Amino acid sequence: MNLSPIPLAVRSTCPYCGVGCGVTAMPLPDGAIAIAGDASHPANRGRLCVKGAALGETTSLEGRLLHPALREDGVLRQASWDEALDRVAGGLRAIIDEHGPDAVALYVSGQLLTEDYYVANKLMKGYIGSANIDTNSRLCMSSAVAGHKRAFGADLVPGCYEDFDLADMVVLVGSNTAWCHPILFQRIARLKEARPDVRIVVIDPRRTATCELADLHLPVKPGTDVWLFNGLLSYLARAGVRDAAFIEAHTNGLEPALDAAQVDCSDPLAVARHCRVEPGDLMAFYGGFAATTKVITAFSQGVNQSSAGTDKVNSIINCHLLTGRIGQPGMGPFSITGQPNAMGGREVGGLANMLAAHMDLDNPQHRDTVQTFWSSPRMAAKGGLKAVDLFKAIEEGSVKAVWVIATNPMVSMPDANQVQRALEKCELVVVSDIIASTDTNAFADVLLPALGWGEKDGTVTNSERLISRQRAFLPAPGEARADWRILADVARRLGFDGFDFAGAHEVFDEHARLSAFRNEGTQRRVFNLSGLCGLQAPDYDKLEPVQWPVRRGADGALEGSARLFADRRFAHADGKARFVATAPRAPANPVDPEYPLVLNTGRVRDQWHTMSRTGRAPRLADHTAESFIDMHPQDALLYGVREGELARVSSQWGAMVARVQHGGGIARGSVFVPIHWNGQTASDARVGTVVNPVVDPVSGEPEFKHTPVQVERFGVA
Ligand code: SF4
Repeated sequence: MNLSPIPLAVRSTCPYCGVGCGVTAMPLPDGAIAIAGDASHPANRGRLCVKGAALGETTSLEGRLLHPALREDGVLRQASWDEALDRVAGGLRAIIDEHGPDAVALYVSGQLLTEDYYVANKLMKGYIGSANIDTNSRLCMSSAVAGHKRAFGADLVPGCYEDFDLADMVVLVGSNTAWCHPILFQRIARLKEARPDVRIVVIDPRRTATCELADLHLPVKPGTDVWLFNGLLSYLARAGVRDAAFIEAHTNGLEPALDAAQVDCSDPLAVARHCRVEPGDLMAFYGGFAATTKVITAFSQGVNQSSAGTDKVNSIINCHLLTGRIGQPGMGPFSITGQPNAMGGREVGGLANMLAAHMDLDNPQHRDTVQTFWSSPRMAAKGGLKAVDLFKAIEEGSVKAVWVIATNPMVSMPDANQVQRALEKCELVVVSDIIASTDTNAFADVLLPALGWGEKDGTVTNSERLISRQRAFLPAPGEARADWRILADVARRLGFDGFDFAGAHEVFDEHARLSAFRNEGTQRRVFNLSGLCGLQAPDYDKLEPVQWPVRRGADGALEGSARLFADRRFAHADGKARFVATAPRAPANPVDPEYPLVLNTGRVRDQWHTMSRTGRAPRLADHTAESFIDMHPQDALLYGVREGELARVSSQWGAMVARVQHGGGIARGSVFVPIHWNGQTASDARVGTVVNPVVDPVSGEPEFKHTPVQVERFGVA
């Protein structure tokens, strides 16, 4: 009897949102992939949302980029890896030699694995000698990073998902958790079902699906979060709801923060008026927060994507510091990250102003530590260009080469028409991707085929600092290579040592050893992977999910850390947390008679980013088949558009066309358009062309949630 071997399921991690669910994947004889939730993974315990469950439908090779390609006389032709890598390295070298290291840049992605991110940062910051490497994570959570650093002294997320099980009150701010982080939402729903007395508060200008779980929805006027939380800080202080011993021993800066909060926000009635919420609802929130010790305030893009995003984050953290509700079970501020590896990228210095192992580029001692560890020839001396400024610099001509890896800025960036002008002008555009045809790689001089999910090996870190493995279960298609390997290949061609990694496990080991090197001789081990140093390939392959900081116990077992700051020690030099004075300010561009509506952008339930993967799974189109402009029926009447008909939404930066719908959750004066649809469809549905390029002055995160626009019937002169 001829028995075929029974294929084994491979345990990996979902490549979409920051919940970071474990999945099992099993290739079947007919070519299909059986996907299931990994019952042993602590982030999801076997559950998957519809996007995760459809992962098996996104791995076909149709439309894949399988071979390197070079543009010659305006036409892309297939090339060998040697030709392509020589072109990249030769092009970068020529530009660096003539114009200096800051004339080249990398623009990468929270889709990269930590190992890819590590090598990219090592190459740019420690060898090329420029910090012009930024990431699309800039677009979703850099305000949270900046807020953490100001408050805690480092980009540290205090809590974990278990805190959602233990809380008595969950406040969701600027987060449509039901659609954007469904498995975390289900966890909150189970909490509510098991303990109906738990209070759920949703703070969001839109009435989203998340509100179905809410005891209280505060539909705040867009951009007024700092007023709301300054008002809460002021209310708590007046009511005497403060942890005086904690504040005295473990914080600094309360008085200036309270002074700032009291300028405009000491009167709840005035706050309610300004935020356009019912005074009774506001007081119910303030009173509930005051009365509940175990309260978790989770925030996401609705907070971060703002010209005041960092202040919004700190206004939330201030309330938790005042009450000492941090670092203990069931309480704390909690940043929900958008991407699967937004956190892992931060660990290795994935932003233009950071260094690996949570060190800072503007700290000479940190620069020296990293350069010593790398034995690198040079080190970037200052922070690099953040995403929006990077593409401006390309258009202006000071940056002459850009290597875009695993992201699609022609769709995802604000003022996407500016990105197009930049790419048209750029002397050398290199794109590493898994897809042959995207809006961005239409501008590539060199296309490099990368491995996709299911083909590559490495680690990701989710919103709660949980490091999980992504494992390959499919062969590399065509000539595709791992991103870290492509970067290392280019580094060697540029003449650099230090890139001879035998596999992803060696990159990970170097990353872990750098964290341990950083911490030698210091007691403040804010980021520590010492327990993961020296993993050989078999142990790396078997690595179970673990939350950093990670040590090895006396018995040799790995010890992760569910929470930070349980010892009340923060990462500032004096060990204390900081209150940050946050003066409220309105969004940068106000509405006016020409552009009277506020455009808000975000995700829909079943699509991911620019749809290069989720667009391949037909069942994911069932939920939302095309882009749309969601607006209030009375606004539609006022502006002469009808539900189901095409309309044009335009700002001073650009325009796009989509069908009008009345979803029922949007207040008058605002419209909502999803971020996913790209320019590959019959009508260019990139909302990025409309979004203003204003950024938060601290974090550099764009204001995706507030662009003044007008809406008019499409096709009417
Ligand atoms: Fe993937 Fe997020 Fe869905 Fe989990 S909740 S399956 S990580 S998309």
